[in-house]
Amino acid sequence: MLSIIVPVFNEEESLAELRRQIEASCSKNEIEYEIIFIDDGSSDQSWSIIAGLARDDQRISGIRFRRNFGKAAALTAGMDAARGEWIMMMDADLQDDPEEIPQFLAKSAEGYQVVNGWKQRRLDPWHKVYPSRVFNWMIGRLTGLKLHDHNCGLKLFHSDVASEIHIYGELHRFIPVLAAARGFRVTEIPVNHRPREFGHSKYGIIRFLRGFLDLLTVVFLIGYGQRPQHMLGAIGLFFFAVGIAGFSYLSLLWIGMNIFHLLPEQPIGTRPLLAYSTAATILGAQAMSLGLLAELIVANTVQNRATFSIRETVKHE
Ligand code: UDP
Ligand code: MG
Repeated sequence: MLSIIVPVFNEEESLAELRRQIEASCSKNEIEYEIIFIDDGSSDQSWSIIAGLARDDQRISGIRFRRNFGKAAALTAGMDAARGEWIMMMDADLQDDPEEIPQFLAKSAEGYQVVNGWKQRRLDPWHKVYPSRVFNWMIGRLTGLKLHDHNCGLKLFHSDVASEIHIYGELHRFIPVLAAARGFRVTEIPVNHRPREFGHSKYGIIRFLRGFLDLLTVVFLIGYGQRPQHMLGAIGLFFFAVGIAGFSYLSLLWIGMNIFHLLPEQPIGTRPLLAYSTAATILGAQAMSLGLLAELIVANTVQNRATFSIRETVKHE
């Protein structure tokens, strides 16, 4: 079965039509499905429409948040409720085309656990399209997973992916990256994209700044999430060594001047090198102790239990 999870934030005009299009596409292709609408604190009629749809159709269910918690939270609630072996996430605003569902399933059958959409011909304003290209390129460079459209609202993934990766904040954009980092096979297919007809986009320009900070978080989590001291400790050791080298040099000068009288006397207390060395030593010690604190947190978190991802097992009963 396919579970279709749809985060909804003030999308009242689109819901009934979206449901109709999903039904049309799935029944034509004989796909067994359920739809889970997650109302992320809408202030319009979205919830009563969802409740109405769910009343009339066994395959439709709804979850209503008390307030707006964000798309990642809505998707997490949807993944927890999903019963299907495969999960498809789809925006509620009709920009994603349910006609694409069979192609996603066909692609996954080639041996992929994540199939990401790619809005090849994108129908959004230019101030979204261009920053988005830069962003996708940066993700590719920093994480090694080169996809054209990481932020695409249309993604299919296996339920194993949903149970292993934990998205929070605005990390929903990084589902393919986080999955790939755990060894799942990720691919993409071009999808048909439609302009928004009703309502308005919930994200502005600020998303790119946040997206960039999230990218740094994800790069750190993937690379050093289980061994933060390897990064912070390395930075710390470097600065510490630079500081100690500066102090050693100044000490040698002082000994040369005051004990062996080999050099003409000059004060060392006013030299810029002294200030730099002091700063470097403190910085180094701080980075190292931060790294130790981070290690302490990692050692004590639940997340630490699943540092690996099992593909399959053979054993004797
Ligand atoms: N959404 C949500 N919670 C939010 C913001 C957005 O559930 O806080 C939903 C929204 O209703 C839509 C999807 O996430 O179904 C994508 O949002 P939007 O279309 O505004 O993003 P864009 O297409 O502009 O990237
Ligand atoms: Mg949209």
